[in-house]
Amino acid sequence: MDYLILVNSFEPLPKGYEKRIKLKAFGGKLFETQTADALAALMNDAEKCKAPLKIISGYRSEDHQHMLWEKEISKEMGNGLDYRSAVAKVGRTLALPGASEHETGLAVDFALPGTDDVSYSFARSTQAVWLEQNAHKYGFILRYPRLKEHITGIDFEPWHYRYVGTESAVMIKQNGICLEEFLNYYQDKYVNSTNKGI
Ligand SMILES: [Zn+2]
Repeated sequence: MDYLILVNSFEPLPKGYEKRIKLKAFGGKLFETQTADALAALMNDAEKCKAPLKIISGYRSEDHQHMLWEKEISKEMGNGLDYRSAVAKVGRTLALPGASEHETGLAVDFALPGTDDVSYSFARSTQAVWLEQNAHKYGFILRYPRLKEHITGIDFEPWHYRYVGTESAVMIKQNGICLEEFLNYYQDKYVNSTNKGI
């Protein structure tokens, strides 16, 4: 399993990827197995720190993502947008089918207990602050941070976390970078240094 896989509208998932993921149920959703275990530890500690979290989304099949995409496009067109404008608007927060991190089983959307959907107001919660300060210790990163929209191509999403493994998550957090920057500038150096002597 490549925990550093980059998935976005420019780099959709390779064909047949779906069949290669080992999934495990956690919190009523499916996740890649190691991600599920790391998430269980994170949620447990968050609760102990009085920042209990609810999971809204985990793994989605490409068909599911397709359904979500169609639904959002129809909604925007129903509100009067033409198809191109609807695609542009929806694409700011929802990935095209085949290009969503949720299709890898490595992504999770959080919300506050008692709520049913993701929300920008989550950003102001104790839970969001706890996640920003601690998620990397469990191998998760805030995948679409503020001020990185021009690099990720996705608006700030306080609820969307992505599993990359602890070592990479710590580096990403400490350097204040996003996954794209990590892969471009740091990974070569990082991989070479950790592979020394092998
Ligand atoms: Zn998400």
